[in-house]
Amino acid sequence: MIRLYVRSTLASGALIEASEGQAHYLGGVMRRSVGDIVHLFNGADGEWTCRIATLARGKGVFAVEALVRPQAEEPGPWLAFAVLKRDTTDLLVQKATELGVAVLLPVFTERTNAGRLSLNRLQAIATEAAEQCERLTVPEIRPVRQLNDILPDWPSSRALHVALARVNGQLLGPSEGPAGLLIGPEGGFGPRDHAVLDRCHFVRAVSLGPRILRAETAAIVGLALLQAARCG
Ligand code: SAH
Repeated sequence: MIRLYVRSTLASGALIEASEGQAHYLGGVMRRSVGDIVHLFNGADGEWTCRIATLARGKGVFAVEALVRPQAEEPGPWLAFAVLKRDTTDLLVQKATELGVAVLLPVFTERTNAGRLSLNRLQAIATEAAEQCERLTVPEIRPVRQLNDILPDWPSSRALHVALARVNGQLLGPSEGPAGLLIGPEGGFGPRDHAVLDRCHFVRAVSLGPRILRAETAAIVGLALLQAARCG
């Protein structure tokens, strides 16, 4: 079943315009045509069966029919991560979405050496991953900020697990309440990063095992451990 994310309100009888990309995907790639059924979700109204009412030359309209899954809370962990190279950041965003992350916070750290970040592109990757993995929500991706600047706004009830390589610390495990994870850049955190993190009472240093993982592997492992511990 094809699942697509839309911004419009979903309700029985509503007519919803497909984006150009969706129309191309349905007609050109998936060879769907008028009368076929797709599922639509918008992060608020649940998932609906919809019939393709029109589809031609990059345009299409969906007619909303029936609710198949009511909207449910999807309370995932928050993932803060030092911006990586483009392809690696893309991979991280896709995997984080599959692993249920609710909010992604790209950050610049002392040793981040990555340039600009296209939020639209990352949001498109997250949307596609949410469609594929049957989420009812698409994670929010915040604009990139300095690590120093996200900490004052961090909700203090959400424990921030900072993944530290080479410290022989406690393996990331169960914790009470909502959770967050912070993954450093390939060069690791620097002394200034450690200084700002040390000032936050909601920060917990955690290990992800005995080997030095690439940052994107560390994010996947950390999120899997959080999922196993069912926090966030
Ligand atoms: N160059 C650094 C390692 C950086 S790995 C060094 O040699 O020490 C990139 C990021 O992945 C780290 O900042 C950390 O957040 C995470 N990471 C990698 N392996 C880890 C491990 N075994 N435990 C916890 N975090 C890890």
